[in-house]
Amino acid sequence: MNKKNITIIATGGTIAGRGSVGKSANYQAGTFDVEEIVQSIPQIRDLANLNTIQLYNVDSNDMGMDKWVELRKICHELEKNRYVDGIVITHGTDTLEETAFFLNLTLACHKPVVLTGSMRPATATSADGPMNLYQAVALACHMEAWQAGVLAVISDTIYSGRDLQKTNSYKTDAFKMGEFGSLGYMRDDHVYLLNSPFKKHTFQTIFSKMEFEDLPKVEIFYVHTDSDPELLEYMLNKYDGLVLAGTGSGNYSTKIKDVLETYAGNCTIVRASRVLEGAVFDSDVFDSKKVTIPAYKFSAQKARILLMLALNCTKNHETIKSFFQEY
Ligand code: ASP
Repeated sequence: MNKKNITIIATGGTIAGRGSVGKSANYQAGTFDVEEIVQSIPQIRDLANLNTIQLYNVDSNDMGMDKWVELRKICHELEKNRYVDGIVITHGTDTLEETAFFLNLTLACHKPVVLTGSMRPATATSADGPMNLYQAVALACHMEAWQAGVLAVISDTIYSGRDLQKTNSYKTDAFKMGEFGSLGYMRDDHVYLLNSPFKKHTFQTIFSKMEFEDLPKVEIFYVHTDSDPELLEYMLNKYDGLVLAGTGSGNYSTKIKDVLETYAGNCTIVRASRVLEGAVFDSDVFDSKKVTIPAYKFSAQKARILLMLALNCTKNHETIKSFFQEY
């Protein structure tokens, strides 16, 4: 069979990290060039013809809107290039879920787009990056990865860009989709896709048809028992949108409730939860005046991205709420 042509876009992260030889801790993310990483995995060239783009070499905490916009443009160029069959993006794991979700909502792509990263730097004993990259390339070559939305591979597991979340701060098995499981798994280069995403993604979304260089500004307000109402007021007056990372099912104190219920400005407010599992729905108790939009299954960091995209289309409360149900 003819080998597929896969382009690897490198953005940095621990997968390109360098530290004391053999150690996993205290390393510098984003130091190795992607070509050096590819050369350290000779068998990867048996899978596909590879082309590499060193787009950035940063810790993923330094990704953000301007870099997402550029990454999106490059993916669109590769989508149009008939000599490219799939895209792999190497990325730091700290914010991988944010980039994956952003791309999953905004790419007008049908070709496979697979993100991967690693928890151990390239110089560690049993570095996990080479296997993750090898499997990401194998997945990007796979027919069933077409039109599946943005995917991620970490630790033999295939995740949807909509749902994956970093759930462990240092172990190699650092991602989970929580109560909804994964899309499938891998054994070496063998792909076992079990589920396909049900929610709209990539070319199916309204956002994939939009051109933009920037998006409305949305911040996250983290709720705890003594959250400062004045800080909330400040944020409401400063940003186009605000996501509350509430307690439990998107809850907060009466002081916070009072600020929300008397607020008369233009900031759109979404209620998410700081709890890893479960969902946030409309609440007659905490939000009887329906000032906020429930985030449903989305974490605060993903709700922020969806709200930025939604606000770029409309300020209408009900339409934005429908986006949170639709995507
Ligand atoms: N701080 C690193 C990053 O996100 C962590 C990692 O890649 O695992 O770039």
